[in-house]
Amino acid sequence: MALDTAWAIDWVRRTAATIDDHRAELVTLDREIGDGDHGENLDRGFRAVVEAVDSATFDTPGAVFKTVATKLISTVGGAAGPLFGTAYLKAAQAAGDTAELDADTLVAVLTAARDGIVSRGKAEVGDKTMVDAWSAAVDAASTAAAAGEGPERVLAAAADAAVAGAESTEPLVARKGRASYLGERAVGHRDPGAQSTAYILRAAVDAA
Ligand code: ADP
Ligand code: MG
Ligand code: MG
Repeated sequence: MALDTAWAIDWVRRTAATIDDHRAELVTLDREIGDGDHGENLDRGFRAVVEAVDSATFDTPGAVFKTVATKLISTVGGAAGPLFGTAYLKAAQAAGDTAELDADTLVAVLTAARDGIVSRGKAEVGDKTMVDAWSAAVDAASTAAAAGEGPERVLAAAADAAVAGAESTEPLVARKGRASYLGERAVGHRDPGAQSTAYILRAAVDAA
């Protein structure tokens, strides 16, 4: 399937479904190194996103991303709501009016999302946050696009790398977010926002 408006809408629905499926797991991860609400926060947010998407029509993927951004920012508190909201807002801007994302536009969209999270939260790669999953995804997507892969393969490369990026947070000490208060005690635990990022990008592949 082309990465068009129908894909973007299906991505939203599949994201809400996978976050709901993994809500307890995300809560457990966040209980270990945070305050235990990450799964609830995202589940509430993406339910609201689906309601908003169901009650509107969209002409472009960018318009869908814009609605996701607005709903996440207004319904998800804590760190992750503004961070994911900013990611989707920047993704919407990068997608612009294009009706169908080609490989290069997809890389631009993922890069803009990651850069939005970084500028909002000031985390770098290795700080044990969602940035670790997003940056791994962006790097893999760029490499795949440069090698001439089409948008679906680029997206799959990004999603696979996000899983590895989430795993890579386990041995780290956190330098941003609530987990940073724990020092060495965060070592051995996976960052919940990096894990949810991997689920969100997997949903994008499943929709394609
Ligand atoms: P809160 O920590 O406010 O309860 P959530 O539990 O919903 O919010 O989200 C926590 C996740 O947010 C972390 O797992 C991490 O991935 C991400 N996060 C927190 N602070 C930052 C930051 N400054 N930059 C990037 N990501 C961050
Ligand atoms: Mg939390
Ligand atoms: Mg919280």
